[in-house]
Amino acid sequence: MSLWKKAKKVETPAPEQNTNSQSRQDLNELVLQSIREGVIIVSPNGNIRLANQAACELTGRAPSELDGVYYDSVINLLDETGNRVSEGRNPINNALKNKEYGEVRDLNIVAADNNKNTPVSIIITPTREENPSLVVTFRDIARELKEERERSEFISTASHEMRTPVASIEGYLGLAMNPSTATVDDRGMDYLKKAHEASQHLGRLFQDLLDTTKLDDGQMKPQLEPVDIVALVKSIADGQIPNITAKGLGYQFGSGSVDQQLSGGKRIDQLIYASVDKDFLHEVLNNLIENAIKYTPAGWVTVNVRADNYNVQIIVEDTGIGVARSELSHIFQKFYRVDNRDTREIGGTGLGLYLVQQRVEAMNGRVWAESELGKGTRFIVMLPRIGEEAYRQQRFYLDNQQAQGLENIDF
Ligand code: ADP
Repeated sequence: MSLWKKAKKVETPAPEQNTNSQSRQDLNELVLQSIREGVIIVSPNGNIRLANQAACELTGRAPSELDGVYYDSVINLLDETGNRVSEGRNPINNALKNKEYGEVRDLNIVAADNNKNTPVSIIITPTREENPSLVVTFRDIARELKEERERSEFISTASHEMRTPVASIEGYLGLAMNPSTATVDDRGMDYLKKAHEASQHLGRLFQDLLDTTKLDDGQMKPQLEPVDIVALVKSIADGQIPNITAKGLGYQFGSGSVDQQLSGGKRIDQLIYASVDKDFLHEVLNNLIENAIKYTPAGWVTVNVRADNYNVQIIVEDTGIGVARSELSHIFQKFYRVDNRDTREIGGTGLGLYLVQQRVEAMNGRVWAESELGKGTRFIVMLPRIGEEAYRQQRFYLDNQQAQGLENIDF
C-alpha cells in the first residue's frame, strides 16, 4: 500500500536506472500527488487503501490517520442542513453497496484539523475488479458555487428591473392598438401588433428568468406539505380545461395504480398522498399542460396519476407533434428549444422545462419525457409517495405549526 506523505517530495527517476514499469509507477504517483482533486481509494470492505495529498488536506488528516481506516470514521460529509450526511445519502456507502458509478454535488466535507468546511463535487468510480474498490474524487467547488450564485443574482436583478419598462411598453402598445384610444391605419396596426407580440415575449422571458433564478440562488425554498395528490393534480389540471377546449382539444383525467396502467387504468379508491410544494406543483403541471396544448395541433391532452407503494407518477400526455429521440435529452436544458418546421411558429422561451425539472427535483422527485415524433409526448413526474400514517402525522404537525404562526418545516 502506498499513502501520500505531505512532505514527501517525489523525485522523477533517472530513466537509465529504472525499468519501464518502475518509471511508469513513479509517474503515476507524481500525477496523483500533483493534482488538486482529492483522490481516495476505498477497498470493498470500506477501508481506505490510498489517499493523495489533496484528500489529506480536505479531510484534515495526516496520511497515517487515513491509511487502512474505515472511510466513514475519517471522511466527515455534511448535508445542506449542516448535519452529518445520513447513511442512505452517503454516496460512498451507496457505491459500496451497489458497485455503481455515482456523482453528487450537494455535500460539504469538513477538515478534522481546522474544521474547514468545503463544498465538494464527489465522483465515485468502481474499479474493474470482480469485487471492486472505489476511486473517490473530491473537487472543491466553493468558487464555482459562488460564481453560479452571482450569475443567478445578476440575472434575477436584471430581469426584475427590465420587467417594469417592458410591462409599460406593452401597456402603451395596447393603448395604441385600441380604436377607442388611438387612430392608426392598417399598416401601422400591423407594426404595432408585431411590437406588442415581441414585448409580450420579452415580458414572459423576464418572468421565466426570474422564476428559475429564485430557486437557483436560494431566494426561494420549497415548502413541502402533505397532500391528497390525486385531488390536487385534478384541480390544477381541470383549471386548464378552458385553454384546452379553446384550442379544440379533448381532455381526460384519470387515476390508477401503476400496474393497472397496463390493464387500461381502472380507478383506484384508495387515497394517495405525497409531500409537495403546492405552488411548485401548480407551476410544474401548468407548464407541462400548456406545452401539451401548444405543441398539439389536434387531438388529446390526458393527465393521469398513478402510484405504486413507493412513488406517485403524474403523467401529462398529448397526441401532438412529438420530440425527436435525439432532442429528448436536451429539452430540459435552459433556453433549449427544438428548432424545426413545426416548432418555429410556436412561441416560447425554452425555460419552461428547465423550471419544471428544477421544481420537481426540489420536491425530491424526478421528471423525464418519452415521445414519438408525429405521435405525441408523455411527461412523467415521479414524486415519493407517503403512507396514510405519515400523512396524518405531517398534517397534524403542520396544522399545529400554522396555528402557532411558525414557519413550515420540510418533510
Ligand atoms: P418553450 O418555451 O420553448 O416551450 P420548454 O422549456 O417548455 O420551452 O420546452 C423546450 C422544448 O421542448 C420546446 O421548445 C419544444 O420544442 C419541446 N417540447 C416541450 N414540450 C413539448 C410537447 N408537449 N410536445 C412537443 N415538444 C415539446
